[in-house]
Amino acid sequence: MMKVVGVIGAGAAGLCAARHISASPCMTPVVWEKASRVGGTWIYTPDVGKDEHGLPIHSSMYENLKTTIPKELMAFPDFPFQDGEESFLHHKDVLKYLEDYTNHFNLRQYIKYVEEVKPVNSDDGTTGWSVTVKDLEAKTTTTTLCDAIIVCNGHYSVPMTPTIKDIDKFRGRQMHSHEYRTPKPFSGLRVVVLGASASGLDISLELSTTAKEVLLSHNHPVNIPSELPANLRQVRGIVAANEDGFVFGDGSQAEADVVLYCTGYEYTFPFLSEECGVSVEDNIVKPLYKHLIHTAFPSMAFIGIPFQIVPFPLFDFQVRFFIALQAGNVAPLTHQQMAAVTAGELKQLKVGGGKARHHHRLGVEGSTLYMRELATLGHFSPEGLQKMKLFKLNFLRMLFSCLTFRRLRYSVEADGQVREWRNGRE
Ligand code: FAD
Repeated sequence: MMKVVGVIGAGAAGLCAARHISASPCMTPVVWEKASRVGGTWIYTPDVGKDEHGLPIHSSMYENLKTTIPKELMAFPDFPFQDGEESFLHHKDVLKYLEDYTNHFNLRQYIKYVEEVKPVNSDDGTTGWSVTVKDLEAKTTTTTLCDAIIVCNGHYSVPMTPTIKDIDKFRGRQMHSHEYRTPKPFSGLRVVVLGASASGLDISLELSTTAKEVLLSHNHPVNIPSELPANLRQVRGIVAANEDGFVFGDGSQAEADVVLYCTGYEYTFPFLSEECGVSVEDNIVKPLYKHLIHTAFPSMAFIGIPFQIVPFPLFDFQVRFFIALQAGNVAPLTHQQMAAVTAGELKQLKVGGGKARHHHRLGVEGSTLYMRELATLGHFSPEGLQKMKLFKLNFLRMLFSCLTFRRLRYSVEADGQVREWRNGRE
């Protein structure tokens, strides 16, 4: 009998889930998406706050955003981006790519738009899941029974804001990168950007084109080694606020008009009922095996929990592993065995000096190992893994040449050999 797999969200992860489930001979997907189109976070809007249905704006894209990952690496393993001059694409090209992916794999028939998943319930997770969905226009609700659930609700929407001593005294504006759209409103202002991961660095560079001064505040062990614009300086993390500005970890102080938090996002699953037994503690989604499978209810999976990854290929490997598990192609593990594997990984992280809240951070080497392991355990071909060499190369280019790394063009040969061009020359 065909198994019904409920997929929550039609961003890149949900589309990838629908693509592979619909190709499986024993499963069929039902995808619920609260927006009116596919693409998730790649659907840019200049609006901030609430959408037309009164729901929080989902996308965190800004107007001029270009990808930080070259398209040769970023693509799903079975669907390359179209040929073109550039390796680093504007967000609208990525949205177009996801629409093309949807059409190519004939996925629209499975997607129910403008439908928000409210509670997902299960009595014991063995008999299936009941998914209640609200039609945001008709204001009606329906309930569907599913044999399995794949959660693909995205993790770049709910801002994580830091606790800063005396922040209530600061008279300037506080905002999160989720609400950042263009550098225009910052013209002539003094801005402190807190957090120097990909968004923090990218937004700081944009802001430096209009702002009077940008201070990029972070606690990385060393400063970003790139040449930076003259009005963009790096300082240590914020330790306290005052009426006019901030005190930093190196003892320096600066006045500021705005502080922009590029401090990441929360994992949230407001639609999972308590009986699903999912919690988030110290940035760890529990209880998961391989950042993916609910250890107590293995018919529930979460795509895209890891960070510092190459998202689309990693989603593809996660979905294929989940399908292999459902099809009985993975050696079965008990709840206790899966929980023990995760406990072992956390212990190893701590022994190596890592913080528990970085459990889902895979990084350059970790991503490749993780994807290879999923392919080995799931007995599927690790197609696309040879491109991961480019992950490291691109990461270093971004770090050392943040102003110019997007001028490079890449190609990856079938054996994984990377070729790069600058100004048309190899
Ligand atoms: P999303 O794209 O967020 O999709 C989740 C979907 O679930 C949304 O459509 C949402 O409406 C829907 N949904 C949520 N809750 C419900 C519900 N209850 N009911 C129904 N539907 C629901 N990745 C790259 O590969 N390269 C880059 O250069 C890159 N740059 C980025 C820059 C920024 C600023 C951000 C924020 C992210 C960037 N990413 C980049 C990461 C990007 O998030 C992933 O590539 C990927 O698009 C995430 O897909 P997703 O499906 O997990 O989540």
